[in-house]
Amino acid sequence: MTDRIYLSPPDVGAAERDALLAAFDGGWIAPVGPDLDGFEADIASWTGWPGAVALTSGTAALHLAMLVNGVQPRDDVFVSTFTFAATANAVKYCGANPVFIDSDTTSWNMSPELLATALDDAKLRGKLPKAVIVVDLYGQCADYDAIVPQCRELGITVIQDSAESLMATYKGQPSGTQGDCGVFSFNGNKIMTTSGGGMFVSPTTELSDRVRYLSTQARQPVTHYEHTDIGYNYRLSNLLAAVGRAQFARLPAMSARRIEINSLYRTMLADVPGVSFMPVPEWSKWNGWLTCVLFDEPAVRDRVMEALAAENIESRPLWKPMHVQPAFRNAKSVSDGTSLRLFRHGLCLPSGSILTDDQALATCTIATSTIHGGSRSGRCL
Ligand SMILES: *Cc1c(COP(=O)(O)O)cnc(C)c1O
Repeated sequence: MTDRIYLSPPDVGAAERDALLAAFDGGWIAPVGPDLDGFEADIASWTGWPGAVALTSGTAALHLAMLVNGVQPRDDVFVSTFTFAATANAVKYCGANPVFIDSDTTSWNMSPELLATALDDAKLRGKLPKAVIVVDLYGQCADYDAIVPQCRELGITVIQDSAESLMATYKGQPSGTQGDCGVFSFNGNKIMTTSGGGMFVSPTTELSDRVRYLSTQARQPVTHYEHTDIGYNYRLSNLLAAVGRAQFARLPAMSARRIEINSLYRTMLADVPGVSFMPVPEWSKWNGWLTCVLFDEPAVRDRVMEALAAENIESRPLWKPMHVQPAFRNAKSVSDGTSLRLFRHGLCLPSGSILTDDQALATCTIATSTIHGGSRSGRCL
């Protein structure tokens, strides 16, 4: 049995190890240190926004994003239904109610039309959402020019869950900066990792200062531990920020490698019937995070997934939409079946930047021969 091929494993090595040990040997273990400041400055220079706060996870960043934007118990918050559960969980942490909005077929992200429908309905009911969380799934932005003005007009905050889309751009602008604030994740499976971590970004330091304050137990600036707010312990460790800086320096290359792997898959699967790829609209620059394919037949998708698993290759269905998750069975939704269709027909293929050409080829060979009924030996190239 060959080594297991993972979907999106960490791509770390000497640079990350050296950075981690340098921080350790420098005595910058706790509570903060130069790498934490440096990491925030790195991300701020990429977004062009002054506000950046390094946190323990993307989920923590979402939670605080909601708190600093005034989301309260019983508020409604509109959320992309096609996402990872963390997005919707953060709404529940605030005691607010997620209302799920389905995807469009152009970007697979929040449909501007269905958002309009949901906002019209909210106006009629006399209860506008406090915020809209738009997710940039699989490393690609939503269509913000069709989304943000609708929210601005009604004074609704747009929070961008760009956990998967660092380095992607929308009409040339970095993901995370199209709304009122944004969130990135550095979990182990993301395009870059600190083994666990996240970042809140905002166009003003007023908002990010508030996030930093809440993330460090809401301590007043006095010696005796005075608290006027309920705080959280969400600050990223300086050691992990050091890893983050080393990863960020390599991010352009890691993103380019993922895009190269996607091109390989596209070439190898070009003539295979019943298989198509995630669309990339002309206004989008995708970061390459995960290569996602759709199968005309869900049963074929399942067979391919099983055949890959038998060869120790990890693949996964696309995210199961939140409006069909048991945990959110009581939540309202505006859906037209798009994300459910993507979930039933879609598969994520191994996409990590450490994947070799041979591993991508092996994956395609197994997929192709399974699609052709498993009878003849698959030939991809
Ligand atoms: C990974 C992810 C998160 C959560 O980030 P963590 O750092 O794992 O807490 C949130 N939203 C989306 C879309 C994600 O993929």
